[in-house]
Amino acid sequence: MAALSEIVEVKEGETIILAPKTSVFNKIPPKSPVFYNPAAKLNRDASLRIYNAYASSTCSEITFGDALAGVGARGLRVAKECRGVAQVYLNDLNPKAIELARCAAELNGVSEKCVFTTEDTLLFLAEHSTPGKRFDVVDIDPFGSPTPFLAAALRAVKRGGLVSLTATDTAVLCGVYPKVALRRYGGLSMRCEYGNEVGARLLFGAAARLAMSLNAGIVPVFTQASRHYIRVYFTLEKGVLKAEENLTNIGYLNHCGKCGYREVGAQSNICPKCKAKVMNAGPLWIGEINSKSILEAALNLRAESSKPADKFLSLALGECGLPPAYYVVDRVADRLNVLTPSIEDVIARLRVMGFRAVRTIFNPKGIRTDASKEDVEEAILSLGK
Ligand SMILES: [Zn+2]
Repeated sequence: MAALSEIVEVKEGETIILAPKTSVFNKIPPKSPVFYNPAAKLNRDASLRIYNAYASSTCSEITFGDALAGVGARGLRVAKECRGVAQVYLNDLNPKAIELARCAAELNGVSEKCVFTTEDTLLFLAEHSTPGKRFDVVDIDPFGSPTPFLAAALRAVKRGGLVSLTATDTAVLCGVYPKVALRRYGGLSMRCEYGNEVGARLLFGAAARLAMSLNAGIVPVFTQASRHYIRVYFTLEKGVLKAEENLTNIGYLNHCGKCGYREVGAQSNICPKCKAKVMNAGPLWIGEINSKSILEAALNLRAESSKPADKFLSLALGECGLPPAYYVVDRVADRLNVLTPSIEDVIARLRVMGFRAVRTIFNPKGIRTDASKEDVEEAILSLGK
């Protein structure tokens, strides 16, 4: 254990976290094996709301498995701040991290709710993969890709249970290394204005393929992306019908880098608008990436209201029912060689034209709409002169 003077108490939400001083004040993740990332607070705030909404949608108290718990920033907050949680299992291979989590659990008065282990991640998940031992919620929050743990996570969650995954290999998922994405996630990533959405869809795609191989299907609940991570939530629904339903949500996103045309469906080569060669991303998840009912429930949990988390959840809710591939207004304006109009004006204009249009959670400069590329261009042209 590090010397006591190097450990600080951090208050996050209603929970006290014990963390090494260096990780709290350094912006770049330190090489220290025990790490706490204060920048992930918003991500954890939003996750707490989703877990709470999920817990209130089930009829009994839930169990939560935090497979890569670190110092317990997420697991301890779940134990302290989630209603309807019977037990939280915090596991990390690093005994120093788990020791800090154990001390923090005492400070927070949640020791009785918490079970601490220092198993290998896959072993921990395997030990919870038999009936009666499975979790209601499993979280996988590694450095890098969650794919090495994905199959084990799906086996360790109950029927209808919730899985949340974080990926920090954003360069791979967002199109810098498409071939690495292909072998890691089973689909090509793509460098384009909505590359982070492609990354999230690759994560769902990888989860869906594994679920289908287990005669199950996934139902996406919530999706969040930042420069440093992509985080997805889904429930696992068992049964061949669910698996077959998932198949219809796997496809490609084709994008023309020259004119900005994009389409969802089968792989294609030539842009139907300008005849340039198109890029293909996938196979990936082309269906809904958020659950309207869970997001509405999460937003109704006003008690633990955190304004930035509210904003994120509201953005995601607004995007429900709209197609993949958002538009970045200044990128479209650049292609058209006009001044960039304000996002609010473009959204208002598209609505006047009879379309749905909203801001997107993926990019503060982005809009998601059911308008075609031509209609988006018409709106921007009419405003950007
Ligand atoms: Zn084109």
